[in-house]
Amino acid sequence: MPAYRQAKDQLTHIKKVAQITVQKNEVELLKATLPGTRLPIWLLDCPSLFEREGGPYTSTKGETWPDNAQRFAVFSRVIAAIATDQIGLDWQPDILHCNDWQTALAPVILHFEKSRPGIIFTIHNLAYQGVFPYSTFVDLQLPSELWSFDSMEFYDEFSFIKGGIVYADQVTTVSPTYATEIQTKEYGAGLEKLLQFHSEKLTGVINGINKEEWNPNKDNNIDTTYSIKTLSLKTKNKLALQKELGLEVGGNIPLLASISRLVAQKGIDLIVGVLPYLKNFKVQYVILGSGEKALETALTKAANTNPEQVFVRVGYDETLAHKITAAADFFIMPSRYEPCGLNQMYSQHYGTIPIVRKTGGLADTVIDETSKSAESIKNTGIIFEKDSAVDLLKAIIRGLDIYSNKTIWEKMQLNAMRQDFSWKNSAMQYLDLYTRILDKQ
Ligand code: ADP
Repeated sequence: MPAYRQAKDQLTHIKKVAQITVQKNEVELLKATLPGTRLPIWLLDCPSLFEREGGPYTSTKGETWPDNAQRFAVFSRVIAAIATDQIGLDWQPDILHCNDWQTALAPVILHFEKSRPGIIFTIHNLAYQGVFPYSTFVDLQLPSELWSFDSMEFYDEFSFIKGGIVYADQVTTVSPTYATEIQTKEYGAGLEKLLQFHSEKLTGVINGINKEEWNPNKDNNIDTTYSIKTLSLKTKNKLALQKELGLEVGGNIPLLASISRLVAQKGIDLIVGVLPYLKNFKVQYVILGSGEKALETALTKAANTNPEQVFVRVGYDETLAHKITAAADFFIMPSRYEPCGLNQMYSQHYGTIPIVRKTGGLADTVIDETSKSAESIKNTGIIFEKDSAVDLLKAIIRGLDIYSNKTIWEKMQLNAMRQDFSWKNSAMQYLDLYTRILDKQ
């Protein structure tokens, strides 16, 4: 990864292992160990490109850095140089695993090399494609043959992500359903035809969750830790949160929650649509998030209108996120599209029942099927299909109905907590893909 200051600051014993000049940029390769592990990591140090105030892709004001194409072209070129042992490390990888458009030029550059490693390219969110004007293509001095519709040209513009899709040996997304969805017009963001064409090499592997960080039995952020064996203690977290946020305190009041970036992708407008109807039910709803101003304002307004039932905290707060996940009965996630999604997995791990829209990773990780009897239910959550506030409301009402039947409710909570969202599962699938690529070479 680039040597962002925040990354460098967390490392000790950094060693400079190589140096390279790429399009007039001096880049140093730094080696260190990922804190708490024995995993070696390399950082590409080029302060003029990567050490800036603000985020990796935007300034402190949230404006996209104007030289993002140049920044990640340099990044990709150094990766390609490492992958072909042109940087003096005397080492070459068997597999290069690139993530998102920022790395997508590496497979392109390697396409022109005689001896290259196997390449896998993972799409984490197809909405972010790295599309730039033709002049950027010219500036980057790439071979003119790449300017074609089956290469990197995209409706008269220059698309980084197309490079990854076209030139990698395998392409993955972060859930099987999303891998299928992005081949349709509705979810394909203009790339559906290209993805259909490459469908033979396109698969989905669901992300795992960090069970050290998200474990109700070890979580230092929450009022009372609990596990499958001590599930009844979960309620104490609800009481503590209600008290902390100034809501009516009561273990039997169903508590709904959402923690999210407040953007259209996450279906926040459906939540806004539902909030006025909560008056008809004895429920509370806690929302934590930040993002688009209009959504922040709409949610805050709803909370001000109905403070007995709705609590909204605008901001980013990891401790509060843990408290909410442990305290809530339902986690609402009505995403329009969701490449994988983490919160529905955290919630299930905490015995908090997710209510989700049937899309992407949500459809792959939440179980909601009809069963013959109450005893045999395998369900771990509630799924609804249409992206409409009415359908979300209906799903919530269905949830409240189940909540009132303590036997089924508890069965569902235990089912949810028993789901395996470990990285081990996903790692095995990646290993399988790596092996397949190597076998073909
Ligand atoms: P995305 O990456 O699309 O935002 P994910 O569900 O994959 O969605 O991951 C979002 C992560 O960010 C989760 O761990 C979630 O808890 C966290 N998160 C989002 N908004 C906030 C917030 N306002 N405060 C704390 N954590 C947040």
